Amino acid sequence: DADTLRQLLTSIDGRGYGSYKQLKGSYDLGSCRLLIDHVQVDPFAPPSLMRLVVDAGTAALPEDLISDRHGHVATTDYLARAVAATSHSIEGVSIGTPQQEVLERTSVAITEDGVEARIAVQLPASGRRVRGRQAARLLTEDLPRIARAALVHVSLDAAALHAHVTLHRDQEALRDQLAERGLVAFVGDGAILPRRSGDSDLPLQQGAVPFRSPETLQVSFDLPSGARVAGMGVPDGITVIVGGGYHGKSTLLRAIERGVYPHRLSDGREWVITRDDVASVRAEDGRSVAGVDISPFITGLPSGTDTRSFSTTNASGSTSQAATLVEAVDAGASALLIDEDTSATNFMIRDERMRRLIPAEREPITPFVDRIRPLHTERGVSTVLVAGGSGAFFDVADHVIALDEYVPHDVTEQARALADDASSLPDEPVFGPSRARVPAAGALRPPGKTKPATGRGRETVRFGRENIDLAAVSQLVDAAQTEAIAKALDRLADLLDQAGPAERTGSSDSGLTLDAAISDVFDRLDAEGLEALSPHRGHPGHLARPRPLEVHAAANRYRGLRLDQG
Ligand code: ADP
Ligand code: MG
Repeated sequence: DADTLRQLLTSIDGRGYGSYKQLKGSYDLGSCRLLIDHVQVDPFAPPSLMRLVVDAGTAALPEDLISDRHGHVATTDYLARAVAATSHSIEGVSIGTPQQEVLERTSVAITEDGVEARIAVQLPASGRRVRGRQAARLLTEDLPRIARAALVHVSLDAAALHAHVTLHRDQEALRDQLAERGLVAFVGDGAILPRRSGDSDLPLQQGAVPFRSPETLQVSFDLPSGARVAGMGVPDGITVIVGGGYHGKSTLLRAIERGVYPHRLSDGREWVITRDDVASVRAEDGRSVAGVDISPFITGLPSGTDTRSFSTTNASGSTSQAATLVEAVDAGASALLIDEDTSATNFMIRDERMRRLIPAEREPITPFVDRIRPLHTERGVSTVLVAGGSGAFFDVADHVIALDEYVPHDVTEQARALADDASSLPDEPVFGPSRARVPAAGALRPPGKTKPATGRGRETVRFGRENIDLAAVSQLVDAAQTEAIAKALDRLADLLDQAGPAERTGSSDSGLTLDAAISDVFDRLDAEGLEALSPHRGHPGHLARPRPLEVHAAANRYRGLRLDQG
């Protein structure tokens, strides 16, 4: 109990840091139980992993809050934020602070036994020596205080918790209706889209113009709570966002891009809700590409390279964008989000003069403007595109939205009047059926890899001796998602090994595809929870649920990825 723990810590005060090792174990601290799963080896190692458990009777969470998956996710998110807030003033304690999105996380678990907060604790040192008395205060006084303040229902703001859960359920109910209503996304009237600064995801405080839907695109939704929200529906098909520079085009697209995740109350984007299988596509020169069919966009390279199975360690702007697009579609994206600011111009358009100067057979690239329509007719994939610099997309747009001083207007009719006659579709389909990607044996086993893959901040997965660069994967929003992706890659490697080389030889469709393996991992998460990704029992680390699309994106960016050529 607390006395034992205090005595133990006092007795090792001033000893070598390694003495902390003895702490591993379980302690009854009265108001909570403390489980010490992992003790850091030295003061500079990643912090120690501990769990604070409050039994179900004491926690007394109302049953209706956690009766469904969405309620469960929102409640644990709320509790994690409460732990983060109460531990703010206590040095060395963290729970992986949730940002503006409400994500499924491993930070707090609600089980039959009770409520469990998974924290990381930096055990105090002076030099490389144990500070036993300080540690005793931290573990036997501060931690129980956190548990009492943040994990017990009566000490929480019950109304705020209830509102948090209700909002989350409403948001997800709206998302569930988008596809059947023929919408890619919804942007609620009154939403505050701009952010405080380029490096802050908080809402702009001063001078933000609230969103207001054009009348023609206005839709409304009735929500489970009884509330009704109105705003702009972004329809399936091809939607082009135009407007002068600095009139808010990218800000709108970016909000839609982030709308695949629910946002917390007062974020400003609570009612920007996007279908959860929508993918942003941008240029990313320098990325590696393995075996992607980019022939709908690029054929007849001067090098003679076969672009039906295109691989490179150093893609150009246009080839990277083509590869990212095809990968997203093959991974199941139902709509694409593309901004001119982050696109390769030669991938997007080619003007008349250039078409006259360089004949089509001398130009390997068929620009996206010629493929955006077949992508929808052949594959059913919609596009929302920001294009302020070219009217070329008027010819193919179903809807054109103009932003004027941040206010959207439906200018579809005016744009159509300026468009050329409906541009003709290609005679033959250009997008074949999606191609199975079967990783070659050991393709996700980096040479010399001994340690589990880990996340390094949001942008990087450390995979063996290599880094997978995810900086350009813009819908990956949280370092804890990156950590989960790292764990998922290790799972994928296991699954591919289990499928065995026998299954991979023979006909091209008998092998385990990357897509099937990733679905398998997510089936397991659905059945067992996110912590199924953790290789240890006990404290699973701080993981947040990524989308399958981002797991695909990470695997596809691994420079060692090789495919079986079926
Ligand atoms: P564009 O892509 O049209 O050039 P941006 O979306 O980059 O424009 O926006 C330009 C600037 O205007 C940014 O600083 C952004 O934060 C700000 N902004 C965008 N939307 C709004 C809004 N609704 N109210 C106030 N400022 C906004
Ligand atoms: Mg822009």
